[in-house]
Amino acid sequence: MNIYSTFIVTNQRRTMSIRASLMLVLAIMTSVITYHSCSMQGQLEPPSSITAQDITPHIQELADDKYLGRMPFGLGDPMAVSYIVNQCKALDLKPANNGSFTQSVPMVEITSSIAEPMEIKTPTGNRTYQFGQDYVIQCQKTVSSIKINEAPLVFCGFGIKDDMISWDDYAGIDMRGKVAVVMVNDPGFGSEREDFFKGNTMTYYGRWTYKYEEADRQGLAGLLIIHEKHAAGYPWFVVQSSWTGAQLGLEKESVEQGADFKGWIHLDMAKDLFAACNLDLSQMMKDARTPGFKPVDMSATISTALNNTIKRDKSDNVLAYLEGSEHPDEFILYSAHWDHIGVGAPVDGDSIYNGALDNASGTATVLAIAKNLVDQKNRPKRSILFAFVTAEEQGLLGSEYLSLNPVVPNDQIVANINIDGCNPNGQMKDFQIVGIGHSDMDQIAEEELAKQNRYVLPDQEPEKGYFFRSDHFNFAKVGIPALFGEGGYDHVEHGIEYGKAKKDEYTAKNYHAPSDEYDAATWDMGGVVQDAQLYYNVGWRLANSTEWPQWKATSEFRRPTNLKD
Ligand SMILES: [Zn+2]
Repeated sequence: MNIYSTFIVTNQRRTMSIRASLMLVLAIMTSVITYHSCSMQGQLEPPSSITAQDITPHIQELADDKYLGRMPFGLGDPMAVSYIVNQCKALDLKPANNGSFTQSVPMVEITSSIAEPMEIKTPTGNRTYQFGQDYVIQCQKTVSSIKINEAPLVFCGFGIKDDMISWDDYAGIDMRGKVAVVMVNDPGFGSEREDFFKGNTMTYYGRWTYKYEEADRQGLAGLLIIHEKHAAGYPWFVVQSSWTGAQLGLEKESVEQGADFKGWIHLDMAKDLFAACNLDLSQMMKDARTPGFKPVDMSATISTALNNTIKRDKSDNVLAYLEGSEHPDEFILYSAHWDHIGVGAPVDGDSIYNGALDNASGTATVLAIAKNLVDQKNRPKRSILFAFVTAEEQGLLGSEYLSLNPVVPNDQIVANINIDGCNPNGQMKDFQIVGIGHSDMDQIAEEELAKQNRYVLPDQEPEKGYFFRSDHFNFAKVGIPALFGEGGYDHVEHGIEYGKAKKDEYTAKNYHAPSDEYDAATWDMGGVVQDAQLYYNVGWRLANSTEWPQWKATSEFRRPTNLKD
């Protein structure tokens, strides 16, 4: 019995929401109809209608230099927003935010600087560490400064606490006012046991964002994550460059109750610190993987201070919908982020990061899907919500805001189909589902793929946690099952080697680079259209059924993880 199945039996009944109970009844009632009534399905078969002409002009437009890389708050921001709003109006879609096509997303940019360097009192003397080289920390609160004065340090394993998995790295200790030192990833990583957490597949408990959220729930003074290259999936310089300088976040009250500082320490600093505390780091790291682990007081205290520079600004989500003919209060949510990373360091004389693939292509695909839905003679039975969200590149902020400030109740959203980057390399025989295994959306996608004579390729890098790195993740967190795919590798004409080489070439040359531009000579729109049709078919099927895709019992999203109870 794995650590998930133990609590499912005991907890599912206790936590099952009214919606879940209703859905279970519905699922039982409709499973026969939905899965065995072929004639009904045949009748609803969507015409294959999406063409490259529906998609390409939007990519060309949004990836044009005049949009300056569609940076939120930049000059390209209002241009991109008004282009998308005008497209929605032209399609006769309805505004989804109380009569408005836009939803203003308030954001705050905080730049923390060290006012007093980190000093740690240990049983063997005082240790001082260097910002950047040994550690990086920031304050996410909108306060002008914070000061930590001799807060006790506690080693808290992986920083995971969830009753649903009977795991508590903060057990038996009041952590308020203390600083937790935790490990990156989750106990399953490196365990060689697929049934323990998810083995090397990263669960959400392994992501730093989860550990930051739990730090706030625990009321910590501070959180320090020990960086390990393999467990994190990236080297120290990524930590250094990503967590220093200005940090953009949502303006929200809950942050004000959170930890004063959060950050990372280098593995070498951790070794030095634990040795100074007469603690065996490698043994403690082993203990942290054992069920029943208890936090360890390190007999040390930490002092530091930070100053903050704060700027505020707003960007917009674009939200439109097509009303369903029979169940207008139930929604299929298509999402794509319109933003990219703006103007930056020039490469080969080009400083505009156009983001043609990332994510003009996804935005264009959702617009094409909307057009083809509108063009149908018969309206879909359920409503379709189209969300073109902002500030994905800055930390999935537009989708987070929408998930926390929904324009329709989240529990009336049947499923999310998120598109972040299309496949410009031509038609594929396969389709990669990122984060496969979370929900019934896998099965639905598989059945629709089969109709295209395609097969499912599982997540190729499950240890890197890509499922947590695009907008669908925020919808998953509030309980909405999501499909997030990534083209494929198995090229219809040229095979797997070719498809993989093309993909690697994009990652190496064009990902988040000024050369992510539309090029009619090198883009083969066959694959973009093929995937657009798939997303259309999945949405069409759900929009005309009574299916409520469910989370799998082993998914950490089978109920909202951000319940503040
Ligand atoms: Zn993207």
